[in-house]
Amino acid sequence: MRWILLGPPGSGKGTQAKRLAAAHSVVHLSTGEVLRSEIADGSELGKTAKSYMDRGDLVPDSLILQMIHDHLPSNGDGGGFILDGFPRTENQAQALDEMLSKEGRPIDRAVLIRVGDAEVKRRLEGRAAAEGRADDTAEVIQRRLEVYQKQTKPVVGYYRRQGMLTEVDGEQSIDQVYDDLDALVRQ
Ligand code: AMP
Repeated sequence: MRWILLGPPGSGKGTQAKRLAAAHSVVHLSTGEVLRSEIADGSELGKTAKSYMDRGDLVPDSLILQMIHDHLPSNGDGGGFILDGFPRTENQAQALDEMLSKEGRPIDRAVLIRVGDAEVKRRLEGRAAAEGRADDTAEVIQRRLEVYQKQTKPVVGYYRRQGMLTEVDGEQSIDQVYDDLDALVRQ
């Protein structure tokens, strides 16, 4: 199982990826989580990334690609993974394809968790209150949504053109979305 989960911020990618990965014994790799832990550790990468994240902008591709290179499980360890929050630009998607095709283990599915704009805003504002994430203020939420539309939506098209994209309705309950995703794994 080598999956990419796509969807706007607040679509539930993280929640679903964590649960799916545990159920199917594969690695869940969230670039946002790796970056937040680099910030907590006070690393150079964390310091650089923080300035972008605090504004709602994307961290430069070169830093993210190095991170993926370092964190992607190797073929030897079972090699299965679910990527959450990556790729976020078409350039990242192409670089990932190159990296994996060299190793003879391409992505087997990209899944878009589809959630409309109004619902995304409602959820992110709720999450800001509940978790106090630094990048969940109204201004930064707005910026992250713009960045998603401009830079990450093309990634959806990239996988659609290759016939690799499957969509699930992300406005259902968490359990219903999970059941749809789990059914895809078992297909
Ligand atoms: P997330 O937890 O996935 O919402 O990510 C939080 C923030 O981390 C994003 O708003 C970006 O600033 C940064 N980030 C996470 N993944 C990526 C990525 N693949 N490319 C660039 N920036 C990223």
